[in-house]
Amino acid sequence: MKMMQAVVVENPMVFSVQQVPVPKTPRDGMLVKVEACGLCGSDLRTLRSGHKNITFPWTIGHEICGTVFEIGEACITSFEVGDRLAIGPLAYCGECEFCRAGRFELCENQREIGQQWQGGLAEYVAIDAACIKLGNIQKVPQGMQSIHAAVIEPISSCVHAQQKANVTLGDTVVIFGAGPIGCIHVALAKARGAFQVFLIDIDETRLQMAAAFGPDRLINALEVDPVETVLSMTNGTGAEVILVATPAPKASVQAVEMAKKGGRIVQFGGLPHNDSKPGIDMNLVHYRGLTILGTSTFAPSHNKIALQLVESGLIPVDKLITHVFALKDFEKGAHLALEGKVLKGVYLP
Ligand SMILES: [Zn+2]
Ligand SMILES: [Zn+2]
Repeated sequence: MKMMQAVVVENPMVFSVQQVPVPKTPRDGMLVKVEACGLCGSDLRTLRSGHKNITFPWTIGHEICGTVFEIGEACITSFEVGDRLAIGPLAYCGECEFCRAGRFELCENQREIGQQWQGGLAEYVAIDAACIKLGNIQKVPQGMQSIHAAVIEPISSCVHAQQKANVTLGDTVVIFGAGPIGCIHVALAKARGAFQVFLIDIDETRLQMAAAFGPDRLINALEVDPVETVLSMTNGTGAEVILVATPAPKASVQAVEMAKKGGRIVQFGGLPHNDSKPGIDMNLVHYRGLTILGTSTFAPSHNKIALQLVESGLIPVDKLITHVFALKDFEKGAHLALEGKVLKGVYLP
């Protein structure tokens, strides 16, 4: 049996790189040789405390760039052996009410590489037919580095959120959370024409790491009141769009308090299950005519734009990826990330 290296998570906080069998090529899918795989905030949560869709032992990893190694005999695809692919990990059923309406991001039966299928922190990953058929896998343009193609997935989710919030020319945009998602949101808001972008966090190190993405103001919510600061920066009127990309419940409350009349608030991040009712002042929503939106995941259309944003340089992924590790050094890299010292780490098998 042909063996490969793969990250195997055996229990929360128990993980290592092990020798495991190379997956079989699915009859109607493909076997992909992984070129690069990113480690995501949701992967860190899985490492820390498990995941409702995952039974250990399990190989995680869903931010994948890889080369087609073998195509199953019954696979319907235009990809060929040797094609380098940016693999959007989501598969949609294509049959539910939302899929039939073209709203794949709301699919009732979404599945994901790294959850329902073994993930990409390995030398090879099997790609199911369901992942191929609705177009979340794209050929990587020539000249694009594999580590850059690997991080299309988180960008896709941000594209979805900012489209839904209609971030547009002249807006003042506030982003809560200076992680990789917050950094992508800063660059994307600028690309969409926001005049002012403010980034809020309580961790000064993270704020300084995010400075490279060009926010007009970094706000440390431990040092100043973020609501007062945003109001004072906007002549007391508030911001058109506030994107909440942190699990801190208080941020959602403050987001509403700093919104301009007619403003839009996007709940991008999930909150802790036992603390997800943060006490928003609904009278502000009412009298100021606010819109509160929620987004999670993305559709193939967002994935397509994300690849173009990376190719065009509008999202500076070179600044996002602060660490590149060999896969064999996964434990070291993951612990650094768990300690909050990595903005985005990418692993090379
Ligand atoms: Zn991710
Ligand atoms: Zn569906």
